[in-house]
Amino acid sequence: MAKRRILVVDNPNERRILRAKAKKVSRFDAYLERLVSDMWETMREAPGVGLAAPQVGESIRVLVAEYEGEAVALVNPEILKRSEEEELGQEGCLSIPGYLGDDVPRANAVTVKARDPRGKEVRVKAEGWFARILQHEIDHLDGILYTDRIAPDKVREVTEADIEPEGAPPPEKPARKGKQDGKQARSTASAASGATSGAAGGEA
Ligand code: ZN
Repeated sequence: MAKRRILVVDNPNERRILRAKAKKVSRFDAYLERLVSDMWETMREAPGVGLAAPQVGESIRVLVAEYEGEAVALVNPEILKRSEEEELGQEGCLSIPGYLGDDVPRANAVTVKARDPRGKEVRVKAEGWFARILQHEIDHLDGILYTDRIAPDKVREVTEADIEPEGAPPPEKPARKGKQDGKQARSTASAASGATSGAAGGEA
């Protein structure tokens, strides 16, 4: 596995990739497997709760997301169903470092159809923050950023007030319980330090 550099919107060349509509994946091969494993590592070390392939410079429809014990790697994801009910929430993005968006509207619940990295069809039902993360990442695959979904005055720089005390995630965001022992320590640490980044659900 290798950690990749995360592209940022401030850089014009990188912005072009972040703003492009990503291509569908047609080959489920070793290249894809390596990309997905690199994306896991890059996301966890950032730390973040989601990452889309264009954010590491690959303009293809792949995302990873991990939140409160749920972890998915999705290829060619499509939202099949979204709840009518929407929630406003705070979002950050690893490609827009130092900023947060308030009141980003997202469907409360979504059902996503996709393939796993081996090509098997999967369906994911998600609610709340996990649903928000998936919508944020699927937007990335269409070149859409959270800043497109809110008025400019809702985007603000991260301030001291956004920073939570280290190791004390709010009760509604318990640290993720890792399934594999090796990963547990790091994921828990990521969840805790993720709180310091200020985004309510972590950056994606
Ligand atoms: Zn993002």
